[in-house]
Amino acid sequence: MYELKINLDFSSAHNLRGYQGICESLHGHNWHVQIIVTSPKLSDMGLVIDFKELKSISNEILDQLDHKYLNELDYFKDVNPSSENIAKYIFDELMKRLEGHNAMLSKVVVYESKGSSAAYYDEG
Ligand SMILES: [Zn+2]
Repeated sequence: MYELKINLDFSSAHNLRGYQGICESLHGHNWHVQIIVTSPKLSDMGLVIDFKELKSISNEILDQLDHKYLNELDYFKDVNPSSENIAKYIFDELMKRLEGHNAMLSKVVVYESKGSSAAYYDEG
């Protein structure tokens, strides 16, 4: 298998509903996002996917989250905007956009701080 990884960032505010502690209050993060795609084969050019293309597709999704109060977005009205749920949101949105591409989405990792990350991937 070939594996490609890109690292992107966005900034947003959130608060965790029902959390017993300071994360229940409104606060912000500089989120760091790692996106990993794989493929058993390469294109004629020798690529899994053009890094530029993968970044541009991924940034379309992150742009919807950047400088937003996540709790106010439709998706997070009922779903708590935790790192786990943000990773799943990005994964699902990216899955739709990578349909028909040579690259298969493997995993999305969301860092809310340098030492704390949550990942989402499909087990199938
Ligand atoms: Zn937080």
